[in-house]
Amino acid sequence: MTAIPGDEMSKPWIGTSWKMTKRLSEAVAYAEALAGLAAHFAHLTNSFVLPAFPLIESVARVLRPAGVSVGAQNVHWMPSGAFTGEVSAPMLIDVGASIVAIGHAERRAMFGETDQTVRDKVGAALASGLRTLVCVGESVKIALGGLTVTDLAGVLVAYEPVWAIGEGSTPATPAQANDMHGQIRAAIAHLFGGAGTAVPLLYGGSVTRDGAPALIAQDQIDGLFVGRAAWTVEGFAAIARTVAETGGRVS
Ligand code: PEP
Repeated sequence: MTAIPGDEMSKPWIGTSWKMTKRLSEAVAYAEALAGLAAHFAHLTNSFVLPAFPLIESVARVLRPAGVSVGAQNVHWMPSGAFTGEVSAPMLIDVGASIVAIGHAERRAMFGETDQTVRDKVGAALASGLRTLVCVGESVKIALGGLTVTDLAGVLVAYEPVWAIGEGSTPATPAQANDMHGQIRAAIAHLFGGAGTAVPLLYGGSVTRDGAPALIAQDQIDGLFVGRAAWTVEGFAAIARTVAETGGRVS
């Protein structure tokens, strides 16, 4: 596994995907400001930022020394070859990525991502040593099909109900999210036995600063994966401090 800063599975997780929202100057300014605040949360959490591909190297240079991991929002399943416009896992590692999100609902809805491509990408990312954040709605069994217990050590799962993601959506209630996480944990344990219970489960979908404390306090929620509310440095830092102070489930 590629070592990621402060990576201990029992620490709570806090991450954001910037999606396609930042230009280079904005990305570097965010990274520098977040690095300045990281002492408040980085040692108590597994924190990560997922910029768009062209920003990863610049952001990683600033954030990795501060204990914040940097990764990608997508990856191709082949290590190299004639795949115009695609980016491979080894290429991501070369520019400082240590984690990748796979199967986000927007990729499934807008870019033809299927269960098969998700499975292929998860396998390729793990084989390259990237920690792999598998985004699922209600179908975790399909996304993790074909993995081994050894693979699981590199897997995180983000439960992101499609109805909770993005503008105009409402978050799952803490109780709903906790219940679903319990079901996902049971499903992973059913597939992989006891090792499955240790897979960190992150909740994502309209998390806000105000909503974060009640979510992260749930016993089945190991972390938060945040979009809009973490696109400002202040937003990320505030939620990360909450996660650091309240903690996730300790496996
Ligand atoms: C997401 O798209 O994965 C997400 C969590 O977004 P938001 O927090 O903006 O709903």
